Amino acid sequence: MSGPNTDYDPVEVTPLKAEEVEAMREAAFAAIAAASDLEELKQVRTEHTGDRSPLALANREIRALPPQARKEAGQRVGQARGAVSKALAARQVVLEAEHEERMLVEEAVDVTLPTARTPRGARHPLTTGAELIADIFVAMGWEVAEGPLVEAEWLNFDALNLGPDHPARTMQDTFWTEPPENHLVLRTHTSPVQARTMLTRRPPIYVVCPGRVFRTDEYDATHSPMFHQVEGLVVDEGITMAHLKGSLDHFATAMFGEGITTRFRPSYFPFTEPSAEVDLVCFVCRGREPDVATCRTCRGEGWIEWGGCGVVNPRVLVACGVDPERYTGFAFGMGIDRTLMFRHGIGDLRGFFEGDVRFTTAFGTEI
Ligand SMILES: [Zn+2]
Repeated sequence: MSGPNTDYDPVEVTPLKAEEVEAMREAAFAAIAAASDLEELKQVRTEHTGDRSPLALANREIRALPPQARKEAGQRVGQARGAVSKALAARQVVLEAEHEERMLVEEAVDVTLPTARTPRGARHPLTTGAELIADIFVAMGWEVAEGPLVEAEWLNFDALNLGPDHPARTMQDTFWTEPPENHLVLRTHTSPVQARTMLTRRPPIYVVCPGRVFRTDEYDATHSPMFHQVEGLVVDEGITMAHLKGSLDHFATAMFGEGITTRFRPSYFPFTEPSAEVDLVCFVCRGREPDVATCRTCRGEGWIEWGGCGVVNPRVLVACGVDPERYTGFAFGMGIDRTLMFRHGIGDLRGFFEGDVRFTTAFGTEI
């Protein structure tokens, strides 16, 4: 370009006409007002104030005007551009405020809402309790033995010297399976595991058998048709009742603490001879005066029934293929549920079986 064109008539330069500049300004204002968020406003800013915007192009035209026309056109375009910039800035403030407000609402955390976190369960106290008991015996070198829940009638009764006329074989106590000629029962005690152990291996035998057992009991605070037993069996040379007493005293101390020992009361079981009921020193009053008189746990006895035990009946040894002339043994059995009720002060047996996680989690940390 060789310089200003003095013949140039600004009136003829369309982009610089007052109405054109006004139209550009109005278009920019309308677009600014229509921008509903910051992203749209950014777009509007580019379109109406950027290098390619009508007002910027118009501004460039001013240089081509004769000097006398530049001032007026410059003022007109400058004012329009200033107004658009101002409007943009004002709209920016409004949209930023709206954006912030929306974020506060959208990202607000209502700390009073219930948490969506799934509560964690816990291992069942019967599982951890049975493991604890097994550990006590494993630490003495015993092994853990298990057997089927559906058991041969012969192993559940006959092998254990429970003759066909024994009361435990009547329909009241035992769940029989169909058809009856199969002679299968839901095991009524864990003792068939002892028979199975003796039948499948030679002494010395030191086993502990925790597991589920079934009897046709009513379901109440102290009874359940399904409960848990732990039995112990030792068969070796020179085994006496003294070994039995020592083992149970150790078991009692490990479960209930120092000073909790056992006593034997003469009793009868077909599979042991002699047989005894095992009592525990009351772990609440410890049988001591004056507390024992008012103790509700042992009802003033100082002792609590725990289970049964005895020297293995030679007839059981013979039935299971063990030479009673060479070997003797002892056996004991007690309820795991009952033992844990004592240990944890649980008043109602049903807590173990009703699947309420609030009951279970109280034991969750015990391993
Ligand atoms: Zn007591």
